[in-house]
Amino acid sequence: MKTRTRFAPSPTGSPHIGNIRTAVFDYLFARHSGGDFILRVEDTDRTRYVESSLSDMMKGLRWMGMDWDEGPGAGGDCGPYFQSERLDLYHKYAKQLLEEGRAYYCFCTKERLEDLRAKQAAAKLPPGYDRACRDLTPEEQEEKRRENPSPVIRFKMKREGETSFTDAVRGEVSFRNELEDDFIIIKADGFPTYHFANVVDDHLMGITHVIRGEEWISSAPKHLQLYEAFGWTPPVWVHPPLILDERGKKLSKRSDTATAFMSYIEEGYLPEAMLNFMATMGWSSGEDRKLFSKEELIEKFTLEGIANHPAIFDLMKLRDLNGEYIRMKTDEELKELIKPYMQAAGLVPGGPSEEDEEYLLQVAALIKDRIVTLSEAPALTGFFYRDPDEYEPKGVKHFQKEEFPAVAELLLERLGSVEDWTLENVESAVRSVAETLELKPAQVIHPARMAVTGRTWGPGLFEILHLVGKTAVLRRIKAAMCFKAEQI
Ligand code: GLU
Repeated sequence: MKTRTRFAPSPTGSPHIGNIRTAVFDYLFARHSGGDFILRVEDTDRTRYVESSLSDMMKGLRWMGMDWDEGPGAGGDCGPYFQSERLDLYHKYAKQLLEEGRAYYCFCTKERLEDLRAKQAAAKLPPGYDRACRDLTPEEQEEKRRENPSPVIRFKMKREGETSFTDAVRGEVSFRNELEDDFIIIKADGFPTYHFANVVDDHLMGITHVIRGEEWISSAPKHLQLYEAFGWTPPVWVHPPLILDERGKKLSKRSDTATAFMSYIEEGYLPEAMLNFMATMGWSSGEDRKLFSKEELIEKFTLEGIANHPAIFDLMKLRDLNGEYIRMKTDEELKELIKPYMQAAGLVPGGPSEEDEEYLLQVAALIKDRIVTLSEAPALTGFFYRDPDEYEPKGVKHFQKEEFPAVAELLLERLGSVEDWTLENVESAVRSVAETLELKPAQVIHPARMAVTGRTWGPGLFEILHLVGKTAVLRRIKAAMCFKAEQI
């Protein structure tokens, strides 16, 4: 049988790290097995629907190169792939359960249910529906329907014994039936609940493996009993463990902005780094290595490699991976990647000239071994475009050294007389200043760097001077001399 997995987001908000990690596992497992990866939109909760949610999910998947075989934008034989367009199907299956005595109409009002909950809480009993409508006679039903013409439909859960299944990550899992509720399958508005639509669709779409967040494991008994009631074969369930933050707390989409997936795209993480990071958050190939290309992940991804202990969201690891992937780029590729950030910061014009492009290429080459995320590019490179408007406080000491005035004067003279502004000529001019003044090269290089970049760190000084150009270099050295003079 062909493996079929699905990513089934509810479009109720912006995707978070946990959603996308689930999608990554579903995708890799489908591709590893030569199967299909399906995108299904679980949009049955009309009250929580968020317009941009699905487009963000799709953008995130495409960005990481995770194409889906069926679903919105891809078509497929099992559509529609939006649950809101499948209501007739859910009604048909709910009717079947009603006829077979496995489901019933429930007319209880909101007020009655609230009252019930309050009483249960006061008596320290677990909350749950008391099955008041489970065994109504047809006459009683008729009467109640007059008072409440839009009842919900509930599923009759078994009341004794246990519901067990084998989870691919946790092994055998059992739940006591007496603790389970007769849950709603069709709501008063005619929409199915998640549990019902999810099971009907997984069956009709031929899903063989359901890989989904750990928070759904407690729903599995409901799902399993639905499969049994219909006489359908359940899929293999795979519940990868939770993702914890560095303090060991559950990553929660509400409490932590760090979980917002789209922000990683905006910050300029590379899709290949993000895929590598997400795939190895709770899964391991068993090898001691950190870099995996998409092809390698597909080749190696097995369910056995999913850890059965919580995964940690380690931002430093992600940053480290991103830096590594950036260093694998050619200068030209990096230039293209940072360009939009440079344009947004106003450092590079909207329609760059050939000269702008050439300059940016050289800038990109010089920051390649330091940049971690693409959005850092403007802050790292501003001095290539603009004179420093302030000096890093801890570097100002270089201007306060006794030898500074002489160093600055002689730099102006020697650099000023360089005719052919090559890297070699710039370097020998700077070194000659140190030699003439009998100073160590560092005693010239540090103040020169501060004067030209305003910073104590960055790419090699000679490369900077060479790229910034003679006029700007001389102007910036003079400005540093004035700054020093003003301070006295
Ligand atoms: N719609 C559910 C969610 O967004 C899907 C859970 C599942 O994969 O079964 O989490």
